[in-house]
Amino acid sequence: MPHRILIDTDACISSGVCVANTPQLFRFDDDEVAELVPGAPVPPDGVVLDAARACPSGAIRVFDGPDEIDVG
Ligand code: SF4
Repeated sequence: MPHRILIDTDACISSGVCVANTPQLFRFDDDEVAELVPGAPVPPDGVVLDAARACPSGAIRVFDGPDEIDVG
């Protein structure tokens, strides 16, 4: 099963890193908080993990089934 992404909108500091690096998956909402692009194809797990690691505030959380992955 592919990894599942959850954006912690309270933790997002609107840095834009995810939007710039992975625009096929992330965009800003009207308040410039990151959200997932609706209907985006499920990316490879490596893309998801790279995005989570690059987020400066740890707002991109990744789950493998019910378990949250420690992206370090
Ligand atoms: S990289 Fe993190 S803090 Fe920056 S916009 Fe994306 S979710 Fe928000």
